[in-house]
Amino acid sequence: MSPYQCAHCKETLSFIEQARSPYCEKPICQRAKVQLYVAENKQRLTAQVIAELEKFIKHTPTRKLPSRLRKELKKTSPLIALLPANTNQLTELGQKRKLEFLRHVSMIYKDVKTHNPSANRVYSEQLEPPLPKNEAQLLGNACATCMGYCCRLGQTHAFVDYPTLKNLLASKPAEFSEKDLLDLYSDYFPKQSYQNSCVFQGNKGCTLPRDVRSITCNNFLCDEVKKYRHEVLQTDSELTFAVAVDKKTIVFTSVYSHENFIRVKEKKA
Ligand code: SF4
Ligand code: SF4
Ligand SMILES: [Zn+2]
Repeated sequence: MSPYQCAHCKETLSFIEQARSPYCEKPICQRAKVQLYVAENKQRLTAQVIAELEKFIKHTPTRKLPSRLRKELKKTSPLIALLPANTNQLTELGQKRKLEFLRHVSMIYKDVKTHNPSANRVYSEQLEPPLPKNEAQLLGNACATCMGYCCRLGQTHAFVDYPTLKNLLASKPAEFSEKDLLDLYSDYFPKQSYQNSCVFQGNKGCTLPRDVRSITCNNFLCDEVKKYRHEVLQTDSELTFAVAVDKKTIVFTSVYSHENFIRVKEKKA
């Protein structure tokens, strides 16, 4: 009898099978293998970011750290936010992409004016109530560390849909025309945006004010930020060590509470 067993279900593995992987091919065992990989990777990144940021704090003259943050560093252990990273390059925002976006807006504008909500894709129906101020600030700091990985999905539509424009137009006077709407959006085009990402993703983040942004963009929290939010809600501490990762590599790091944000690693890997 073979001395080898699947590390999850304990079923016997042949020598060759075990040399290939300590897990058998059953889906449940393959899932266990992935979970273990994710947990190990998380542990490794957590240890790495703590070491990097502790070093940064140790070598930064105390007077250069905001006093509130200094106090928090003394009395609480930090939360760790593991996040994705936007590694796209900044590039000139070309006329073609701008026009594609404006064509999209024109199309949705006509749908609103003709009360035709299902003619084009609806991304989100309803705006969620805003988060409490401190919580919104902390999650905003996490997103600032990541630099907008999710905005790559905005392409040349920026998630502008029927419910978004219906709300926006309802807040404007009756004489607000299609041209006014296109001019409004055009005023916010950044000079440079991230390659193949949303047309409004500029070097300092989204250039659209919240009341002009789509419902999807105003509601969206990625899974990593949801996990971080869950941890924020579980503890009193808001001191955070944040790390934005591309595959297995740390790309950006930051230290923050809701009041102070210090970007530590900002160069691309
Ligand atoms: S929601 Fe997630 S992916 Fe989007 S900017 Fe924030 S951390 Fe990054
Ligand atoms: S409109 Fe702003 S928040 Fe929405 S996808 Fe584009 S850059 Fe991101
Ligand atoms: Zn198994």
